[in-house]
This record gives sequence, C-alpha cells and structure tokens, in this order.
Amino acid sequence: MSKYDLIVIGGGSGGVATANRASTYGAKVALIEKSQMGGTCVNVGCVPKKIMWTAASLKEAIHEAKNYGFKTEFKEFDWNALKQKRDEYIVRLNAGYERGLAGNKVEVIRGEATFEAANVIRVGGNTYQSPHILIATGGYPVIPNISGAHLGMTSDGFFDLDHQPKKIAIVGAGYIAVEFAGLLNTLGSEVSLILRNNEFLRHFDQSIRSALMTEMEKDGVKVIRQTEIKEVKKTSNSISLITKSDEELANFDQVIWAIGRAPNTQALQLEKTGIQMTQAGYIVVNKFQETNTPGIYAVGDITGNHELTPVAIAAGRRLADRLFNGQDERHLTYENIPTVIFSHPPIGTVGLTETEAVTKFGFESVRVYESKFKPMHYAFNPDGAHCLMKIIVSGPDEKVVGCHGIGMGMDEMMQGFAVAVRMGATKEDFDDTVAIHPTAAEEMVTMKTSRVANTSAK
Ligand SMILES: Cc1cc2nc3c(=O)[nH]c(=O)nc-3n(C[C@H](O)[C@H](O)[C@H](O)COP(=O)(O)OP(=O)(O)OC[C@H]3O[C@@H](n4cnc5c(N)ncnc54)[C@H](O)[C@@H]3O)c2cc1C
Repeated sequence: MSKYDLIVIGGGSGGVATANRASTYGAKVALIEKSQMGGTCVNVGCVPKKIMWTAASLKEAIHEAKNYGFKTEFKEFDWNALKQKRDEYIVRLNAGYERGLAGNKVEVIRGEATFEAANVIRVGGNTYQSPHILIATGGYPVIPNISGAHLGMTSDGFFDLDHQPKKIAIVGAGYIAVEFAGLLNTLGSEVSLILRNNEFLRHFDQSIRSALMTEMEKDGVKVIRQTEIKEVKKTSNSISLITKSDEELANFDQVIWAIGRAPNTQALQLEKTGIQMTQAGYIVVNKFQETNTPGIYAVGDITGNHELTPVAIAAGRRLADRLFNGQDERHLTYENIPTVIFSHPPIGTVGLTETEAVTKFGFESVRVYESKFKPMHYAFNPDGAHCLMKIIVSGPDEKVVGCHGIGMGMDEMMQGFAVAVRMGATKEDFDDTVAIHPTAAEEMVTMKTSRVANTSAK
C-alpha cells in the first residue's frame, strides 16, 4: 500500500489548490481525480460560462457601437465555432493544471476514490494510506424527479450544446438560471425563465435583485412566476412543460434544469469513516475544515458553504498552511465574501444585504446610501441599463457592512471594494477617497444622502 502525507480526493478548485500548497511545504501528496482536471469551474462552470457571457456582452457592444458612429451591423453568431474554441481553451487549462501539479511533484492518481477505512483509500485495485485525507469532491446539478425530466438538460448539458437554442425554458431561480437566461437572451434565443415563486436570487439584496428583474424583462426575458413543473413531454419536434396547474408551456427546443446542486458523496462510501453529514448530504466541518473523524477534512462545494471557486481555493490553501506549515490557527473566515452574478447587467456584492444588516444590527443602527443612474457608456442609448449602487452602514461611525451594485462594469468593480469592506472601512473612508472620473465606480465614493432601512427589512 502506497503511503502519503496527504491524499486529496477531487481535482477541482479546492483539491488542486490544497495539493499544490501542501507539496510546496515538502509534503508527499497524492491527488485522485476521476474526470478532467480542474473540476466544475474549469470544465462545466465559471470558465465556459464566462466565455458565453463575454460573447453576449460583445454582441451588446456591437449594438452600442452604432450609437457611437460606427457603421457596423450584427450579422450572425456562430455558436458552434465559439464552442469549439471554448473547448480547446479548456483543454489547455486542463493541461495547465496537470503541469502545475507535476511541477509541484503531486502524484496524480486517475480513477474514482472510495474509502476502505478512515485512513485508507481505494482506487480500482490499489489502496493508498495517509494520516490526512481531504475530501474535495464538489457537487453535481440536480434534475427533478418528474416524468420526462430527462428531456431537459442541466448546466453540464448546456456546455455540450453545439447549436444555439431558438426557444428555451430555464427552470430555476439561482444564479446559474439567471446567468444562462441573460446570456442566451442577449445572444438572441427566446428565453422563458420559470420561477417557483415570484423572485429569483433570494439571498441577494432586494433592491439589486428587483433592478435585475426589471432589466431582464425589459430586455425580453419572459419571466414566468409562481409556476412548478410536474411533467415534461416531447412532441414531434419540440418540448412541452406541464405545470402543476395543468397549463402547457409549449414549443421549446431545449429545457435547462437549474434547480440546484447536490454533494458528490455517492461513490465515497463515507459510512466507513463515521463522518457526520447534513440531511442534504453535505459534509459537516468545523472552522478548520475538520470533519468529526480525525484526519479527514473537507473543503469546497462538498461542505455546502459559499459554493464558489475562490472559497474552495482559500479554504484548501489555509488548511495546507495549517497542516504542513505550522500555522496552527490558519483558517478561512466565511464573512465578507465578494461575489459577482454574470447577469445582463452584472451584479457585484460583498457583505450584508439590507435585511441581513437589520437582523444583525437592529433597525435603528442601519442606514442605506443608494444611487441609481445611467452610466455615461449609454449616453446615446435611451434604453441602456441603469446602474444601481448601494452601501449599507451600521452604527454611529457608519461602518460599511454591505456594498452592492448592478450595472455595467460591476463585475470588475467589486473586488477593490471588498478589500475596503474586509478592512472595516467606514462611510467616511469611502467619502475621503478621491473619485476616479468619469467612471461609474466613482458613484460608490460620492453618495451623499442616506435613508433608513426599508421596513420590510426589519
Ligand atoms: C454553471 C456554473 C457556473 C459557475 N460559475 C461560477 C463563477 O462564476 N464563480 C465562482 O466562483 N464559482 C462558480 N461556480 C461554482 C464553482 O464551479 C464551484 O464552487 C467550484 O468548482 C467548487 O470547487 P470544488 O473543488 O469544491 O469542487 P469541483 O470543482 O466540483 O471538483 C470536484 C472534483 O472531484 C472529482 N470527484 C468527485 N468524486 C470523486 C471521487 N469519488 N473520486 C475522484 N474524484 C472525484 C470530480 O470529478 C471533480 O473534478 C459555478 C458552477 C457552475 C455549475
């Protein structure tokens, strides 16, 4: 049986980062991956999604160019040509991950890992032992348990599409549903976004998400609210969705289920480890990413906590720092984690929403600065998307506890504000920062008037 200082199960964002960091400290590391290196983010997540979002943004730019005097027309979008380039790009990234691991002398084992015992892993006919085993096996997209569900696809299937859907239904209210709806609509597909309730992105700030809803509906996304699907049917050349109230939503050429993700634990045989899991099957860890079984750790989506690539990476690297570099207290604090929704227009956010701030600090302590404006980019376009920016402050010193925005450029803007919020900046610090003019971002440091929190946020 081969022995290691650390065995990592899963070559996605969290697993690769942990393995590389641990090996730079001299640990003997094995990483087990059953599929392409890089995991969800590289192969069927952030990377191909961002490429499609960029394509959609370029189409918007072609339209906008006319307003600036360019004699240009949008003619055609070759979906399959982009898909091929995107796939090639991902193959290059896969190879880059492999090279990085090889350079750090991480031993890559190909195949599906299962636990033989708490400190022994089996892959095929071989077993491997280590006092430290990290589970970083991520998640997979869920399809509903209804008749005909197989006629739809998940986000994984979306990235296999070699032609652009003409009329597509996207079922779900999370960020993947919203992002796919936005990019497909912008690229010219007819999009119906089907919500079980009235709203999407329910963990995001209310004003920001309703601003997005307004923009998406204005841009032509058909949002179908209060609708649950009970059956999917195939007709001769299209797909129909039957709702729980027996309505038929017809004539789709594709359906995407974006109703959530589930943890990838099936193959692991965790019952042999005594690890505690939540009811939904996520692995329970403490702040040091330790499970209740000594020597077994988990990072990333498998823990169900902030399912984002940089979170998986940060948690994994800190774990390696602690286990192999003597940084005994090193761990990730799951607070003020910035994130972007690559919607059209994009959302950037860090810290608490208005509702969360009121819950945490009390209605009397919270004030809200907000600004809605048309960015100069759309100076010649009456239909151009508005920006909405929002700073939520708490206490007499007006500490910034939340910073949110929607609008062009917000995706690139929020990272810097996240540093300020993490460092405990106050509104006065924002005010004392000289603006960069003319930008949309300057609005974040020039807001003057505040209001009390919405009573609905009480
Ligand atoms: C459509 C989509 C868009 C996204 N966009 C963004 C974004 O813009 N920004 C962002 O930050 N995040 C985004 N995410 C989320 C991000 O991809 C995940 O948070 C991240 O990949 C989680 O990393 P991980 O290491 O936990 O798991 P993963 O990256 O999922 O890696 C897990 C790996 O484990 C392997 N594995 C599983 N079981 C076994 C086993 N038994 N043996 C061996 N190998 C195994 C899998 O093959 C996989 O490679 C997106 C996700 C999706 C689906």
